[in-house]
Amino acid sequence: MKLVAHFFNKNIFFIFILLLLISCENISGDEDNTEEPKYKIDSESYSSKYKGNRIRYIILHYTYLNDEDSIKTLTEDRVSSHYLITTEINNPIYRLVDENERAWHAGLSSFDGHSAINDSSIGIEIVHQGIYDTEEYEQAKGISLSREQKHFPEADMYMEYDKEQLDKLVFLLKDIIKRYDIHPRNITGHADVAPTRKQDPGPKFPWKWLYDEHHIGFWYDEDEYQALMISNDYGTAKPMDIKKEFHKYGYTSMPTNNDKWDIPSRKVIYAFQCHYRQGNIDGNMDMETYVVLKALNNKLQSERKRQRQKEATVEELIRLRAIRESNLEEQQE
Ligand SMILES: [Zn+2]
Repeated sequence: MKLVAHFFNKNIFFIFILLLLISCENISGDEDNTEEPKYKIDSESYSSKYKGNRIRYIILHYTYLNDEDSIKTLTEDRVSSHYLITTEINNPIYRLVDENERAWHAGLSSFDGHSAINDSSIGIEIVHQGIYDTEEYEQAKGISLSREQKHFPEADMYMEYDKEQLDKLVFLLKDIIKRYDIHPRNITGHADVAPTRKQDPGPKFPWKWLYDEHHIGFWYDEDEYQALMISNDYGTAKPMDIKKEFHKYGYTSMPTNNDKWDIPSRKVIYAFQCHYRQGNIDGNMDMETYVVLKALNNKLQSERKRQRQKEATVEELIRLRAIRESNLEEQQE
C-alpha cells in the first residue's frame, strides 16, 4: 500500500511539472503575440536610388542525359537547376528550385568580373544529348580523332535542338525576363561562364534565331560587322589587346597572364565562337572572330553611352523642376 502511495505521489509530481511547463509555454507564447516590438523597421520614409536585382544572369545548359536520368540527377545529386525542359512534349516545364533560392548549376565560373555565377543566376537545363560520345563518333565515322579535335570538337559532333523544346524555352525565358531586369548579354550559356570546363549549350544552340525571332539575348549589328570587316585592325592587333576585348565583353576567364593563344585561352575563343560565330568553331583566333567581338563591344559601348545620357537628362530635369518649384515658393511668399 505504501508502495502504491509512493508511486502515485511520484507521478503526480511529474504531471504537475509537465502542466507547469505547458502553461509556461502558453503564457510566454501569448506574451510574444501581444508584446510590441522593441524597435520599428521603417521601409516607407526613404528609398535608395542605386539598387538592382540579385538575379543578373540566365544560364542555359544541356543535360547530356535522357529525361529520366536528368530528373533523377537534378533532384537527387549534388547538382540542381531552377528549371528543366524535358523531351516529352506533353510534360510541363519543371521548376525544381525556387527562383529565390540558389541552384547548383554553374559551378566554378566567371563572367564580367563576377565569379560564383550560381549566386546571381537562374539556371535552365534542357534535356538534350548535346554532343556525340567521342568513341561512338569515331566508330560511326571510321576515324580516329586527334587531340586537337577532342579539345575543340567540330560542329558535326553536336546534335540539333528540338523545335518543341526551343518553343518551351522561349516561353520560359520571356516569363523570367518580365520579372527581372536582366541585360540581354547576360542571357548566356554555361560554356560562356565556364569555358575551360564546359561546352553546353553548344554550337547548335540557335542564339541568333533567339535574337532575331524573339528579341532575346544580345547580337551585333550587321552594318557594324560589315564596316569592321573592311576597316578592321586585326592585322596590327596584339594578342593582349584581343584578350582585353574578350574581358570587355564579359569573358573574364580569358587568361591575361600571358600573350599566347594557349589551350585555356583557345577554350575561351571556342566558347565565344560556339555562341557568336557558329560557322567555324576551331578555337583559333582569326579576323572574323575578332570583328564579331569588336562589333559586340561597340554595340555594348554605344548602348551604355545612350543609357548614361538618358540618366543625365532625367537628373537634369529633376534639378530644373526643383529650381522652378523653389522660385514659385519664393514668389508666393
Ligand atoms: Zn551545364
